[in-house]
Amino acid sequence: MKILVIAEHREGRIRKITYENISLARQLGQPFEVVVVGGNIANLEEDLQKYGAEKIKFYQNESFDKYSPDGYAEIIAQAVKEHQADIVLMGATATGKDLAPRLGSILNAAVANDCTTVEMDGDQLKVVRPMYAGKVLATVRLQSDVKVLTIRPNVYQAEHNPVTAEMEKLPAETGEFKTVVQEIVSGAKGKLDVTEADIVVSGGRGLKSPDNWHLIENLAQVLGAANGASRAAVDAGWRPHDEQVGQTGKTVSPSLYIAVGISGAIQHLAGMSSSKYIVAINKDPEAPIFKVADYGIVADLFEVVPKMIEELKQ
Ligand SMILES: Cc1cc2nc3c(=O)[nH]c(=O)nc-3n(C[C@H](O)[C@H](O)[C@H](O)COP(=O)(O)OP(=O)(O)OC[C@H]3O[C@@H](n4cnc5c(N)ncnc54)[C@H](O)[C@@H]3O)c2cc1C
Repeated sequence: MKILVIAEHREGRIRKITYENISLARQLGQPFEVVVVGGNIANLEEDLQKYGAEKIKFYQNESFDKYSPDGYAEIIAQAVKEHQADIVLMGATATGKDLAPRLGSILNAAVANDCTTVEMDGDQLKVVRPMYAGKVLATVRLQSDVKVLTIRPNVYQAEHNPVTAEMEKLPAETGEFKTVVQEIVSGAKGKLDVTEADIVVSGGRGLKSPDNWHLIENLAQVLGAANGASRAAVDAGWRPHDEQVGQTGKTVSPSLYIAVGISGAIQHLAGMSSSKYIVAINKDPEAPIFKVADYGIVADLFEVVPKMIEELKQ
Protein backbone atom coordinates (compact mmCIF):
# COMPACT_ATOMS: atom_id res chain seq x y z
CA MET A 1 0.00 0.00 0.00
CA LYS A 2 1.31 3.43 -0.85
CA ILE A 3 0.81 6.27 1.59
CA LEU A 4 0.64 10.02 0.96
CA VAL A 5 1.21 12.23 3.99
CA ILE A 6 -0.32 15.66 3.39
CA ALA A 7 1.86 18.28 5.06
CA GLU A 8 0.05 20.94 7.06
CA HIS A 9 1.78 24.27 7.40
CA ARG A 10 0.95 27.73 8.63
CA GLU A 11 2.92 30.96 8.52
CA GLY A 12 5.95 29.25 7.01
CA ARG A 13 6.06 26.51 9.63
CA ILE A 14 5.23 22.83 9.33
CA ARG A 15 2.72 21.81 11.98
CA LYS A 16 3.74 19.06 14.40
CA ILE A 17 0.98 16.70 13.28
CA THR A 18 2.77 16.36 9.92
CA TYR A 19 5.88 14.96 11.64
CA GLU A 20 3.67 12.65 13.70
CA ASN A 21 2.02 11.37 10.52
CA ILE A 22 5.42 10.82 8.86
CA SER A 23 6.44 8.72 11.89
CA LEU A 24 3.16 6.82 11.64
CA ALA A 25 3.75 6.18 7.91
CA ARG A 26 7.21 4.78 8.74
CA GLN A 27 5.72 2.56 11.46
CA LEU A 28 3.21 1.13 8.99
CA GLY A 29 6.17 -0.11 6.99
CA GLN A 30 4.67 0.90 3.63
CA PRO A 31 6.24 3.19 1.01
CA PHE A 32 5.25 6.79 1.58
CA GLU A 33 5.66 10.28 0.13
CA VAL A 34 4.97 13.69 1.59
CA VAL A 35 2.88 16.18 -0.39
CA VAL A 36 3.17 19.90 0.27
CA VAL A 37 0.61 22.25 -1.29
CA GLY A 38 0.95 25.99 -0.94
CA GLY A 39 2.15 29.32 -2.21
CA ASN A 40 5.44 29.98 -0.50
CA ILE A 41 6.62 26.51 0.48
CA ALA A 42 10.19 26.20 -0.77
CA ASN A 43 11.73 26.65 2.70
CA LEU A 44 9.70 23.85 4.31
CA GLU A 45 11.84 21.02 2.98
CA GLU A 46 14.55 21.37 5.61
CA ASP A 47 12.28 20.61 8.57
CA LEU A 48 10.50 17.80 6.75
CA GLN A 49 13.82 16.07 6.14
CA LYS A 50 14.66 16.23 9.87
CA TYR A 51 11.66 14.01 10.55
CA GLY A 52 12.27 11.37 7.93
CA ALA A 53 10.52 12.59 4.77
CA GLU A 54 12.49 10.74 2.10
CA LYS A 55 10.31 11.75 -0.85
CA ILE A 56 8.67 15.16 -0.99
CA LYS A 57 6.37 16.42 -3.76
CA PHE A 58 5.80 20.16 -3.91
CA TYR A 59 2.66 21.52 -5.54
CA GLN A 60 3.46 25.19 -5.54
CA ASN A 61 1.32 27.92 -7.03
CA GLU A 62 1.00 31.50 -5.85
CA SER A 63 -2.78 31.20 -5.93
CA PHE A 64 -2.35 28.72 -3.05
CA ASP A 65 -0.99 31.47 -0.79
CA LYS A 66 -4.42 31.57 0.76
CA TYR A 67 -6.13 28.33 1.74
CA SER A 68 -8.90 27.28 -0.60
CA PRO A 69 -10.87 24.21 0.55
CA ASP A 70 -11.94 23.19 -2.97
CA GLY A 71 -8.63 24.21 -4.59
CA TYR A 72 -6.49 22.26 -2.09
CA ALA A 73 -8.81 19.25 -2.25
CA GLU A 74 -8.61 19.24 -6.05
CA ILE A 75 -4.82 19.35 -6.11
CA ILE A 76 -4.44 16.70 -3.40
CA ALA A 77 -6.87 14.45 -5.29
CA GLN A 78 -4.70 14.98 -8.37
CA ALA A 79 -1.62 14.00 -6.32
CA VAL A 80 -3.33 10.85 -5.04
CA LYS A 81 -4.09 9.80 -8.63
CA GLU A 82 -0.65 10.73 -9.97
CA HIS A 83 1.16 8.77 -7.26
CA GLN A 84 -1.41 5.96 -7.13
CA ALA A 85 -1.71 6.27 -3.39
CA ASP A 86 -3.86 3.90 -1.38
CA ILE A 87 -3.82 5.74 1.95
CA VAL A 88 -3.92 9.49 2.59
CA LEU A 89 -2.84 10.72 6.04
CA MET A 90 -3.81 14.17 7.33
CA GLY A 91 -4.16 15.69 10.76
CA ALA A 92 -7.48 15.70 12.60
CA THR A 93 -7.07 19.46 12.72
CA ALA A 94 -9.47 22.13 11.47
CA THR A 95 -7.79 21.98 8.04
CA GLY A 96 -7.57 18.18 7.89
CA LYS A 97 -11.19 17.78 8.93
CA ASP A 98 -12.17 20.34 6.29
CA LEU A 99 -10.22 18.62 3.50
CA ALA A 100 -10.82 14.93 4.24
CA PRO A 101 -14.52 14.75 3.31
CA ARG A 102 -13.95 16.85 0.18
CA LEU A 103 -11.19 14.48 -0.85
CA GLY A 104 -13.39 11.49 -0.03
CA SER A 105 -16.09 12.91 -2.28
CA ILE A 106 -13.76 13.61 -5.24
CA LEU A 107 -12.02 10.23 -5.03
CA ASN A 108 -15.04 8.19 -3.98
CA ALA A 109 -12.91 7.16 -1.00
CA ALA A 110 -13.86 6.07 2.49
CA VAL A 111 -12.90 8.58 5.21
CA ALA A 112 -12.10 7.85 8.86
CA ASN A 113 -11.76 10.96 10.98
CA ASP A 114 -9.89 11.46 14.24
CA CYS A 115 -8.15 8.06 14.28
CA THR A 116 -6.19 7.15 17.40
CA THR A 117 -4.73 3.85 16.15
CA VAL A 118 -3.75 2.88 12.62
CA GLU A 119 -2.18 -0.49 11.90
CA MET A 120 -1.68 -3.05 9.20
CA ASP A 121 -3.52 -6.30 9.78
CA GLY A 122 -1.93 -8.54 7.16
CA ASP A 123 -2.42 -6.60 3.95
CA GLN A 124 -5.48 -4.79 5.34
CA LEU A 125 -5.63 -1.46 7.11
CA LYS A 126 -7.29 -1.34 10.53
CA VAL A 127 -8.06 1.91 12.33
CA VAL A 128 -9.55 2.78 15.70
CA ARG A 129 -11.53 5.96 16.23
CA PRO A 130 -13.41 7.22 19.28
CA MET A 131 -17.14 7.76 18.73
CA TYR A 132 -20.07 9.18 20.75
CA ALA A 133 -17.91 11.72 22.58
CA GLY A 134 -15.30 9.06 23.38
CA LYS A 135 -17.77 6.58 24.92
CA VAL A 136 -16.89 3.83 22.44
CA LEU A 137 -13.83 2.99 20.40
CA ALA A 138 -14.78 1.75 16.96
CA THR A 139 -12.45 -0.53 15.00
CA VAL A 140 -12.96 0.28 11.35
CA ARG A 141 -11.92 -1.31 8.07
CA LEU A 142 -12.20 0.93 5.04
CA GLN A 143 -13.35 -0.94 1.95
CA SER A 144 -12.65 1.60 -0.80
CA ASP A 145 -9.50 1.55 -2.92
CA VAL A 146 -8.29 4.90 -1.59
CA LYS A 147 -8.58 5.42 2.16
CA VAL A 148 -8.50 8.90 3.68
CA LEU A 149 -7.56 9.16 7.36
CA THR A 150 -7.24 12.10 9.71
CA ILE A 151 -5.10 11.33 12.75
CA ARG A 152 -5.64 12.82 16.20
CA PRO A 153 -2.70 15.10 17.08
CA ASN A 154 -0.29 13.97 19.80
CA VAL A 155 -1.26 10.30 19.63
CA TYR A 156 1.78 9.27 17.57
CA GLN A 157 5.15 10.61 18.55
CA ALA A 158 7.10 12.69 16.02
CA GLU A 159 10.43 10.92 15.73
CA HIS A 160 13.51 12.89 14.83
CA ASN A 161 15.07 11.01 11.94
CA PRO A 162 17.22 13.16 9.59
CA VAL A 163 17.33 12.06 5.95
CA THR A 164 18.17 13.57 2.60
CA ALA A 165 14.99 13.79 0.62
CA GLU A 166 14.33 13.20 -3.03
CA MET A 167 12.32 16.27 -4.01
CA GLU A 168 10.09 17.00 -6.93
CA LYS A 169 8.29 20.18 -7.95
CA LEU A 170 5.08 19.45 -9.78
CA PRO A 171 2.64 21.72 -11.63
CA ALA A 172 -0.29 22.81 -9.50
CA GLU A 173 -2.93 23.90 -12.00
CA THR A 174 -6.54 24.05 -10.93
CA GLY A 175 -9.70 25.68 -12.18
CA GLU A 176 -11.23 28.73 -10.51
CA PHE A 177 -11.51 28.37 -6.74
CA LYS A 178 -15.02 28.52 -5.32
CA THR A 179 -13.85 29.48 -1.84
CA VAL A 180 -10.71 31.23 -0.64
CA VAL A 181 -9.94 31.94 3.01
CA GLN A 182 -9.10 35.63 3.12
CA GLU A 183 -7.78 35.92 6.64
CA ILE A 184 -7.01 33.70 9.61
CA VAL A 185 -7.29 35.55 12.87
CA SER A 186 -5.15 33.73 15.38
CA GLY A 187 -5.18 34.13 19.14
CA ALA A 188 -2.44 35.84 21.11
CA LYS A 189 0.92 35.64 19.33
CA GLY A 190 3.43 33.22 20.78
CA LYS A 191 0.75 31.37 22.74
CA LEU A 192 1.18 27.58 22.79
CA ASP A 193 -1.59 25.81 20.89
CA VAL A 194 -3.47 23.35 23.13
CA THR A 195 -3.62 20.77 20.35
CA GLU A 196 0.16 20.74 19.91
CA ALA A 197 1.32 21.13 23.51
CA ASP A 198 2.85 18.22 25.39
CA ILE A 199 1.35 19.46 28.67
CA VAL A 200 -2.01 21.21 29.04
CA VAL A 201 -3.32 22.90 32.19
CA SER A 202 -7.06 23.56 31.95
CA GLY A 203 -9.34 25.47 34.28
CA GLY A 204 -13.07 25.36 34.80
CA ARG A 205 -15.90 27.04 36.65
CA GLY A 206 -14.25 26.03 39.93
CA LEU A 207 -11.91 29.00 39.40
CA LYS A 208 -14.94 31.16 40.32
CA SER A 209 -13.80 34.28 38.46
CA PRO A 210 -11.51 35.28 35.57
CA ASP A 211 -9.49 37.22 38.17
CA ASN A 212 -8.25 33.87 39.49
CA TRP A 213 -7.05 32.64 36.11
CA HIS A 214 -3.48 33.64 36.96
CA LEU A 215 -3.36 30.34 38.90
CA ILE A 216 -3.87 28.40 35.66
CA GLU A 217 -1.47 30.65 33.74
CA ASN A 218 1.25 30.43 36.36
CA LEU A 219 0.96 26.66 36.73
CA ALA A 220 1.07 26.35 32.92
CA GLN A 221 4.09 28.63 32.77
CA VAL A 222 6.21 26.70 35.27
CA LEU A 223 5.39 23.47 33.43
CA GLY A 224 5.90 24.92 29.93
CA ALA A 225 2.28 24.00 29.25
CA ALA A 226 -0.55 25.42 27.14
CA ASN A 227 -3.69 26.86 28.74
CA GLY A 228 -7.01 25.12 28.23
CA ALA A 229 -10.50 25.77 29.54
CA SER A 230 -13.84 24.08 30.00
CA ARG A 231 -16.82 25.36 28.09
CA ALA A 232 -18.28 26.82 31.26
CA ALA A 233 -15.21 29.07 31.54
CA VAL A 234 -15.45 30.00 27.85
CA ASP A 235 -19.21 30.62 27.88
CA ALA A 236 -18.79 32.85 30.92
CA GLY A 237 -16.44 34.99 28.82
CA TRP A 238 -13.46 34.22 31.07
CA ARG A 239 -11.43 32.60 28.30
CA PRO A 240 -11.29 32.71 24.47
CA HIS A 241 -12.90 29.90 22.51
CA ASP A 242 -9.56 28.73 21.06
CA GLU A 243 -8.74 27.40 24.54
CA GLN A 244 -11.89 25.32 24.89
CA VAL A 245 -11.28 21.61 25.23
CA GLY A 246 -14.09 19.18 24.49
CA GLN A 247 -16.76 18.08 22.10
CA THR A 248 -17.44 21.58 20.80
CA GLY A 249 -13.89 22.76 21.38
CA LYS A 250 -10.54 21.20 20.65
CA THR A 251 -9.41 17.61 21.05
CA VAL A 252 -6.11 17.28 22.87
CA SER A 253 -3.89 14.29 23.59
CA PRO A 254 -0.94 15.65 25.57
CA SER A 255 1.41 13.57 27.70
CA LEU A 256 0.01 15.32 30.76
CA TYR A 257 -3.41 16.98 31.19
CA ILE A 258 -4.15 18.81 34.43
CA ALA A 259 -7.82 19.61 35.02
CA VAL A 260 -8.34 22.25 37.69
CA GLY A 261 -11.85 22.90 39.00
CA ILE A 262 -13.43 20.97 36.12
CA SER A 263 -16.22 18.51 36.90
CA GLY A 264 -15.53 16.16 33.97
CA ALA A 265 -18.78 16.34 32.00
CA ILE A 266 -18.88 13.85 29.11
CA GLN A 267 -18.52 16.70 26.59
CA HIS A 268 -15.28 17.79 28.28
CA LEU A 269 -13.96 14.23 28.49
CA ALA A 270 -14.56 13.86 24.74
CA GLY A 271 -11.76 16.33 24.14
CA MET A 272 -9.11 15.11 26.57
CA SER A 273 -9.64 11.51 27.67
CA SER A 274 -6.97 10.19 25.28
CA SER A 275 -4.29 12.21 27.17
CA LYS A 276 -1.51 9.93 28.41
CA TYR A 277 -1.70 11.03 32.06
CA ILE A 278 -4.59 12.95 33.57
CA VAL A 279 -4.34 14.78 36.88
CA ALA A 280 -7.53 16.21 38.38
CA ILE A 281 -7.80 18.78 41.15
CA ASN A 282 -11.32 19.06 42.50
CA LYS A 283 -12.77 19.53 45.97
CA ASP A 284 -15.64 17.12 45.23
CA PRO A 285 -14.46 13.49 45.58
CA GLU A 286 -17.48 12.38 43.53
CA ALA A 287 -16.61 14.58 40.53
CA PRO A 288 -16.72 12.45 37.33
CA ILE A 289 -13.29 13.72 36.28
CA PHE A 290 -11.76 11.36 38.88
CA LYS A 291 -13.11 8.37 36.88
CA VAL A 292 -10.68 9.16 34.04
CA ALA A 293 -7.86 10.64 36.15
CA ASP A 294 -4.61 8.75 36.74
CA TYR A 295 -3.90 10.97 39.74
CA GLY A 296 -6.52 12.85 41.71
CA ILE A 297 -6.12 15.60 44.27
CA VAL A 298 -9.27 16.10 46.33
CA ALA A 299 -8.66 19.59 47.64
CA ASP A 300 -9.49 23.25 47.34
CA LEU A 301 -7.68 24.44 44.23
CA PHE A 302 -7.01 27.82 45.83
CA GLU A 303 -4.84 26.06 48.41
CA VAL A 304 -3.21 23.39 46.31
CA VAL A 305 -2.40 25.20 43.04
CA PRO A 306 -0.28 27.98 44.64
CA LYS A 307 1.65 25.26 46.53
CA MET A 308 2.26 23.35 43.29
CA ILE A 309 3.51 26.51 41.58
CA GLU A 310 5.89 27.26 44.47
CA GLU A 311 7.14 23.68 44.55
CA LEU A 312 7.70 23.54 40.78
CA LYS A 313 9.53 26.86 40.75
CA GLN A 314 12.25 25.46 43.01
C1 LIG B 1 -23.76 20.00 23.11
C2 LIG B 1 -22.82 20.34 24.23
C3 LIG B 1 -21.49 20.51 23.95
C4 LIG B 1 -20.59 20.81 24.98
N1 LIG B 1 -19.26 20.96 24.68
C5 LIG B 1 -18.38 21.14 25.70
C6 LIG B 1 -16.99 21.24 25.45
O1 LIG B 1 -16.53 21.22 24.30
N2 LIG B 1 -16.16 21.39 26.50
C7 LIG B 1 -16.61 21.45 27.80
O2 LIG B 1 -15.77 21.61 28.72
N3 LIG B 1 -17.93 21.39 28.05
C8 LIG B 1 -18.82 21.25 27.04
N4 LIG B 1 -20.15 21.22 27.31
C9 LIG B 1 -20.59 21.61 28.68
C10 LIG B 1 -20.49 20.50 29.70
O3 LIG B 1 -21.67 19.74 29.69
C11 LIG B 1 -20.30 21.10 31.11
O4 LIG B 1 -21.37 21.98 31.38
C12 LIG B 1 -18.99 21.86 31.30
O5 LIG B 1 -17.91 21.07 30.85
C13 LIG B 1 -18.82 22.21 32.78
O6 LIG B 1 -17.67 22.96 32.95
P1 LIG B 1 -16.89 22.92 34.35
O7 LIG B 1 -16.48 21.53 34.63
O8 LIG B 1 -15.86 23.98 34.29
O9 LIG B 1 -18.01 23.43 35.36
P2 LIG B 1 -18.81 22.65 36.48
O10 LIG B 1 -19.49 21.47 35.91
O11 LIG B 1 -19.63 23.68 37.15
O12 LIG B 1 -17.68 22.12 37.45
C14 LIG B 1 -16.91 22.92 38.29
C15 LIG B 1 -16.12 21.97 39.16
O13 LIG B 1 -15.24 22.74 39.98
C16 LIG B 1 -15.19 22.13 41.27
N5 LIG B 1 -14.80 23.16 42.21
C17 LIG B 1 -15.51 24.25 42.61
N6 LIG B 1 -14.79 24.99 43.49
C18 LIG B 1 -13.61 24.36 43.66
C19 LIG B 1 -12.45 24.62 44.43
N7 LIG B 1 -12.38 25.71 45.20
N8 LIG B 1 -11.43 23.75 44.38
C20 LIG B 1 -11.49 22.63 43.60
N9 LIG B 1 -12.57 22.33 42.84
C21 LIG B 1 -13.61 23.19 42.85
C22 LIG B 1 -16.58 21.59 41.50
O14 LIG B 1 -16.55 20.53 42.46
C23 LIG B 1 -16.99 21.13 40.12
O15 LIG B 1 -16.69 19.77 39.93
C24 LIG B 1 -21.06 20.95 26.31
C25 LIG B 1 -22.42 20.76 26.58
C26 LIG B 1 -23.28 20.45 25.56
C27 LIG B 1 -24.74 20.25 25.88
